[in-house]
Amino acid sequence: MKIQVTRSSLPEFEEYVDEIKDLWDSRWLTNMGVKHKQLEAELEDYLAVKDVSLFTNGHLALEMAIESMGLEGEVITTPFTFASTTHAIVRNGLEPVFCDVNSDDFNIDVEKLESLITDRTTAIIPVHVFGNICDVKTIDKIANKYNLKVIYDAAHAFGVTIDGVSVANFGDASMFSFHATKVFNTIEGGALTSNHQVLKDKLNALKNFGMNCSGNIDYIGGNAKMSEFQAAMGLCNLRHIEDDISKRKQIVNRYRGNLGDIREIKFIKEQKGVRSNYSYLPVLFKGYKQNRDEVFEKLKKQGVTPRKYFYPLTSDFPCYKGRFNQSYTPVAKEISEKILCLPLYADLSLKDVDRICEIILS
Ligand SMILES: *Cc1c(COP(=O)(O)O)cnc(C)c1O
Repeated sequence: MKIQVTRSSLPEFEEYVDEIKDLWDSRWLTNMGVKHKQLEAELEDYLAVKDVSLFTNGHLALEMAIESMGLEGEVITTPFTFASTTHAIVRNGLEPVFCDVNSDDFNIDVEKLESLITDRTTAIIPVHVFGNICDVKTIDKIANKYNLKVIYDAAHAFGVTIDGVSVANFGDASMFSFHATKVFNTIEGGALTSNHQVLKDKLNALKNFGMNCSGNIDYIGGNAKMSEFQAAMGLCNLRHIEDDISKRKQIVNRYRGNLGDIREIKFIKEQKGVRSNYSYLPVLFKGYKQNRDEVFEKLKKQGVTPRKYFYPLTSDFPCYKGRFNQSYTPVAKEISEKILCLPLYADLSLKDVDRICEIILS
């Protein structure tokens, strides 16, 4: 049996068919229909945030969040992320400035952040990597001091809370991805969360050709609307999210039990006060890059496909090489060379986890 790094959660076929049935009566397939409205309301509740604005994917949501704030100049971010974060900055005509990450949770190193701020800096775009929450208090303090906007790439952090507060409430806005491979999916999809009505109105216009609620074109917008079929998938999957997260937790605990005592393998420490969504299972192989690559090849030979995630750093992509100020991010570099994300999805059996661990241990 082949095991991929992830496998999309789906409701029972009948449940989805039941959910989309009314669309054959209404013939309202997209443009903020009934399912779209219902999903926004249910997510505002689940994510405990004032406003949720749905998008056709997370990437366009992030692009439009940046666009909505009219930023200029430099944006501080990290290179230890998916291509999307850096691309969204550059596609808005802005210059990414790469800050290093810390070795505890692989998130932006707030101690190195302030020294990268110049008079051209207008925003910080940190990433809650693998669902671990950034040092939001310190980031907030720095942003206030220098009058910077903060947009979190929370693509990995759906449903995560810290001391009971939902991750959706930090910064000026947060982006969530509902891609098929994420903890919660709408096939393709995404959302921006914020607590400012003005921002929500602008985002809703930007995703629909710049049209405001009275039909006037106020902005040079694009098209990034979520369809009714995507929203219907979200309504179904949201019914099972708690069950999925608890299954993921069991799987993570099994991995930790099997591999936790091995000196050469390092897990990320669980964050204090954080309710995790167990979105990924990253482990670091100590020693040389070869150790990671060897385990990767060995697993692949046995039909198991883990992922070198994130490797390489976005700042090392061919499209960015030599293009921006190549700040030195040694911690991010080292992590990217030693990391492997092991298979993790809600219906991965514990027997398969044991088999994967046996291959690694051998
Ligand atoms: C998945 C992901 C995105 C992009 O989301 P899509 O919904 O696939 O467009 C952005 N940032 C990170 C860190 C991601 O993992």
